[in-house]
Amino acid sequence: MRYCTAPWRLTYVKKALKMKKCVFCEALKKKDDREALILYRGKHNFVIINRFPYTTGHLMIAPYCHLASFEKAPREIVVEATELIQTAISILKKSYRPHGFNVGLNLGQAAGAGVTGHFHIHVVPRWPGDSNFMPIVGQTKVFCEDLMSTYDRLKPYFKKEEKKQEK
Ligand SMILES: [Zn+2]
Repeated sequence: MRYCTAPWRLTYVKKALKMKKCVFCEALKKKDDREALILYRGKHNFVIINRFPYTTGHLMIAPYCHLASFEKAPREIVVEATELIQTAISILKKSYRPHGFNVGLNLGQAAGAGVTGHFHIHVVPRWPGDSNFMPIVGQTKVFCEDLMSTYDRLKPYFKKEEKKQEK
């Protein structure tokens, strides 16, 4: 079994649990989507880049409303979120050509959720050996620069998607 370690996440998870404000709701309040790392705004959900990614291109899909339980989410939210998983995978395939994906929800602190009050679906592109490589390069500063290039790389694809939805 390959064990994926991301030690820098631990400080983040600890910090997030202490934080009273929700990172998703806070991101939505920002006027600049690029600064907030929001790639796409749907009807009920949005797509955002994870600021503390497991791998490059680690995206998250979350509803606009601050909702903890996925099982109680209204159908329209779940349907659109599922469609956005498809969109995210197909865009990441085109832009990063990963060899695989991890897709899923961490519900509750015990399951490893950094943010417990606002459910979100992770879409993580994977490459062979990335779990060995990432902790070495996982310095905050490196990531800050990388996140913006991730944003600029993915945004045109999501823009196309927005146009498709407008039609
Ligand atoms: Zn929230």
